Amino acid sequence: MLKKAIVLIFDGLGDRPIASLGGLTPLEYAKTPNFDKLATEAQCGLMHTLGRGLRPGSDTSHLAIFGYEPAKYYPGRGPIEVAGLGLKMQDGDVALRGNFGTVDDNMVIQDRRAGRILVVEPLTKALDGLQIDDVTLVVKPGTAHRAGVVMRGPGLSSAVTDADPHEVGQAVWEVKPTDDSPEAKRTARLLNKFVTKTHEILAELEFNKERQSRGELPGNCLLLRGAGQYRSFPSFKERFGFTSCCVAGGGLYKGIGAFLGMDIIEVPGATALPDSDIEAKFKTALKQLDSHNFVFIHVKAADSLGEDGDPEGKAEFIAKCDKAMGLFDNLPKDGLLVVTADHSTPCELKQHSADPVPVMFYGDGVRTDDIVTFGERACAKGGLGHIEGKDIMPQIQNLMGHLHLTGA
Ligand code: ZN
Repeated sequence: MLKKAIVLIFDGLGDRPIASLGGLTPLEYAKTPNFDKLATEAQCGLMHTLGRGLRPGSDTSHLAIFGYEPAKYYPGRGPIEVAGLGLKMQDGDVALRGNFGTVDDNMVIQDRRAGRILVVEPLTKALDGLQIDDVTLVVKPGTAHRAGVVMRGPGLSSAVTDADPHEVGQAVWEVKPTDDSPEAKRTARLLNKFVTKTHEILAELEFNKERQSRGELPGNCLLLRGAGQYRSFPSFKERFGFTSCCVAGGGLYKGIGAFLGMDIIEVPGATALPDSDIEAKFKTALKQLDSHNFVFIHVKAADSLGEDGDPEGKAEFIAKCDKAMGLFDNLPKDGLLVVTADHSTPCELKQHSADPVPVMFYGDGVRTDDIVTFGERACAKGGLGHIEGKDIMPQIQNLMGHLHLTGA
């Protein structure tokens, strides 16, 4: 009986036929003997992550795959990113993500990343714990110029606009409520106070004065966006009984893992870029099966290459991943491997699309079908047929004998 699972998600893997690849998709074009060997012994299909005709975001699609219906559980980007920074949230907290940028005296943006500042701890330290009226602000560093903010206090709402105008030469936006509730109005007012206060504190900070004396841009403003309200919910362990962990390079995906209560495993060389050490990630994931019975692996770059409109690069990256797929020969006998994508990112569109993605279930005792290659058109004929993201966890539970009997 299967007891452990690895769910391996290749971000944006699905694509459409591309003329320069002879009418094949990058996954079909790439040399993938290891994917194909697994597919031969697996049950394959296509997955409409959020349901047919819905164009999935990466955050909502991962929630759906892990059994958390986005309509009920998606809190907006802020709380997910902030969870990835190791911040614990409480019921009612409003979380936002932000960049440290450089503004002039009129709050007009000179640089959105403060000259690509690499270390922001001195900046977050100066702001962490700030009190605005009866609300406390928790501010923690992210990677490079990024930070996470949690507003903690009574009567808050996430129905507010961003402060970050995303453009150099524009003044920092005034945060506005997006509904008529007193909570939204209050949160907008508090955030505007916070943005002003942030600039006052950071402009006077010795760390920034030293940067300026070296000819570097000061990180004198925190550009906030993506407000979301945290509501407590059952963790992945509580929902499914799995001790779980997340092996990912990208901040958003670590955030999804942390948000659901998975342990976050750092892998040196996991960059979320095409140069990422995929073998190191897979080796780490297999090792984690000794101490966890559910491992989520995220591999990012196929999505980025799709967004770049680079079919050859996407195919090359897929071939690189295939080499590492050979490591799953070491999957334990009680281990299930699920390989899929969160959505398609067709090179032609340079953005996510609603095209379903290939999926396969591989493991001892799993039914097989006649599919011998892992690709969009092959999987369309697979034994799983067309499934949705929300079908993945019940399928895993079924294969492990975890499902309750319906009826008698
Ligand atoms: Zn994605």
